[in-house]
Amino acid sequence: MNLKISALDYIQEVKSGNISAEDFVAKTLEQIHSVDDNLHAFLSVNKNAVDQARDIDKKIKSGQKVGDCFGMPISIKDNICIKDSKTTCASKMLENFVAPYDATVITKLKQQDAIFIGKVNMDEFAMGLTTEFSAFGPSKNPWNTDCVPGGSSGGSAVSVSAFECVASLGSDTGGSVRNPASFCSTVGYKPTYGLISRFGLISYANSIEQIGPLTRTVKDTAFMLNMISGIDPNDNTTIDNKNEDYLTGIDSGIAGKKIGIIKEMIGEGIDPVVLSATKDAISKLESLGAICEEISLDMVKYSVAAYYTITATEAGSNLARYDNLRYGYDFPLEGYEFNSYISKARRNFGPEVTRRMILGGFVPSAGHAGKYFLKALKVKSKLTNEINDAFKKFDLLLSPTVPVPPFRLGEKINDPISLFLVDINTVTANLTGKPAISIPFAISNGLPIGIQLMANSSQDRQLLQAAYALEQTVSLPEVPL
Ligand code: GLN
Repeated sequence: MNLKISALDYIQEVKSGNISAEDFVAKTLEQIHSVDDNLHAFLSVNKNAVDQARDIDKKIKSGQKVGDCFGMPISIKDNICIKDSKTTCASKMLENFVAPYDATVITKLKQQDAIFIGKVNMDEFAMGLTTEFSAFGPSKNPWNTDCVPGGSSGGSAVSVSAFECVASLGSDTGGSVRNPASFCSTVGYKPTYGLISRFGLISYANSIEQIGPLTRTVKDTAFMLNMISGIDPNDNTTIDNKNEDYLTGIDSGIAGKKIGIIKEMIGEGIDPVVLSATKDAISKLESLGAICEEISLDMVKYSVAAYYTITATEAGSNLARYDNLRYGYDFPLEGYEFNSYISKARRNFGPEVTRRMILGGFVPSAGHAGKYFLKALKVKSKLTNEINDAFKKFDLLLSPTVPVPPFRLGEKINDPISLFLVDINTVTANLTGKPAISIPFAISNGLPIGIQLMANSSQDRQLLQAAYALEQTVSLPEVPL
């Protein structure tokens, strides 16, 4: 049984009777048991997965209508609610929280007969980019287990890359799908803001974040978008994509397309191996008939500061609900008055979440808001204007996904500013609401490098076409598991 197949190939194989969902799911569980002690992608595994797959096989055999996922095993980041399952956000604060309802993406995938193989690791409440801030221990990069897998959706990327599932769902507030995708050599997609419902995604900074798929191929990402995108009455920021089919025309090529190379994303701080991969990507796109030209987005140099100011503010408000009264862990009330109780209870947050909450209380506060929060909002709107202007001239914008290759576990954990700066190429898409994708492009010194393409709002289909064209130029070695 080949666990390395793409989602589309899995569907074909099950449909044609070459494999059964039950065998595939059982094999996937074996893979999890054999590699996950070392990689730690999973926080919990679905014990009923094989039974669920068997039921789908029965439906297929008896000629009943089967959903388009045909029992495909998908892993889910542990900040997306699955009814009656634990949803911990990799936090002690939610260690025992069992979700009372399904996220909209989960409802949609259930209707299509997907199997949720397990919940995967992340930085606590999605704050971070290495998974080292998980309260349950870091995940490791399958390409080199001394290195971080990226984050915050690190468990998602590891599970796809190490064949512990066929596809995964993560969330991307400032790069959390694209960054681990780049570090683990998978595809990672951050859709146009509003394309995918956030209902049932535990909020970090809801004005800019989106759920997004991590997959082995660009076509699989298009397939996943077909499954989970669309307007949702439970999330009034969703947009009507009129049931667009993201696979249609995906192979129409990139000839004649204008691609802007963002100068500020290939400048200071970029690692030479990443720069050389980026140049290689540009020449490959040119050889396919694209027209590439440098462009400057002046506001990018302020984007990380604006991003952390805005997200800390939203996080401060979103995480105020975790007081250990409405949600929480076993910690008795006796002997405390209200404020001392809450501050003691909040000590159960890890260091990064604590940092963000303190920052999030300060930057929008009276007397400081003008200097920090309102300034950050100005950067956000200027950056949006700049990028909208850029899309008058260019069809797509290109950069490396991350300016550095995967680094060692522990290397940056005590240096938050240097960690924040790793987000320089990813936060722009979130602050401006644009779709962006990370495509596996190179392996250098045994470590993956991803290339990012961005498109204008609601041009997700065009973005996938370009990503598919670039993907066809690449042939990468297998992950050394
Ligand atoms: N590294 C960023 C942060 O910590 C991005 C996180 C994300 O996209 N969820 O906020």
